[in-house]
Amino acid sequence: MAERKLDGRRALVTGGSRGIGRAVAIRFAREGARVAINYNGSRVTAEECLALLEEASAAAGVEAAGHFIVQGDVGVEADVARIFAEVDRQFGGIDILVNNAGVQTIEAPSETADPKDIERVLRTNLDGAVYCAQAALRRFLAQGQGGVILNCSSVHEIIPKPGYLGYSLSKGAMGNLTRTLALEYAGRGIRVNGVGPGATLTDMNAAWADDPEKRADVERHIPIGRAAEADEIASAFLFLASSDASYVTGQTLYVDGGLTIYADFAKNWSS
Ligand code: NAD
Repeated sequence: MAERKLDGRRALVTGGSRGIGRAVAIRFAREGARVAINYNGSRVTAEECLALLEEASAAAGVEAAGHFIVQGDVGVEADVARIFAEVDRQFGGIDILVNNAGVQTIEAPSETADPKDIERVLRTNLDGAVYCAQAALRRFLAQGQGGVILNCSSVHEIIPKPGYLGYSLSKGAMGNLTRTLALEYAGRGIRVNGVGPGATLTDMNAAWADDPEKRADVERHIPIGRAAEADEIASAFLFLASSDASYVTGQTLYVDGGLTIYADFAKNWSS
């Protein structure tokens, strides 16, 4: 049997019951990891995800992997404390944190955007990632064996997103969260990286993904010519979580079909 890349590793994936988080969790389970799935929406969806993880582990030859689901809002400090206490209880520690939980802002011109809406997005996408990173770091330091933090960012870490100020702010700041923590903890065996997905087929994009005309309109802007499957994003998380990336820290890996290479310059218009 091929070597599994995450044998025995203990991972927490926030907002991991569907979409990109679910794809990451399944990929990790296939590679031998034990995965805690945090969810804040439907318990039924989380239970479905858990069943898929158990299947993935069994298919990989891992018996009684011990995955579990844990409810909680990452934007609430007390919930994050409870989520990590459950990870301590069930896994006795943690090796990999995936800050995946995220929400979009409602589209609005920035001059009239509701500050409460901006705040709501920052609370989940940024505060949530910070609270979870702090909780993971304290454990990594106490365990003394290093650790990995992976932030699910976006192409909007570097591409502005007019009309979505909260989202844009949250992902821009996530880039500095990745780099700052990477630098602060590099000497202690802790690696911190980000993955920046482009347009990916998940519930977050249901407004265009399920409408052929709108989807074609989106895909027209993507150099590779199509949106991503969540599993294609999960590949980057696996790479960065594994020892294949043992010398990589402080980076955001854009998995975006070429969105961040200036799609508009594919044909010359400037000279
Ligand atoms: P999704 O809506 O399917 O998943 C988001 C998950 O986060 C859901 O399970 C949701 O319940 C959970 N969540 C939201 N608020 C939470 C909270 N306060 N506490 C705990 N969980 C919470 O969408 P997705 O596309 O899978 O998004 C996952 C991540 O990928 C997000 O951070 C998103 O910004 C990022 N991303 C997505 C795309 C895309 O095109 N889909 C592109 C770039 C980045």
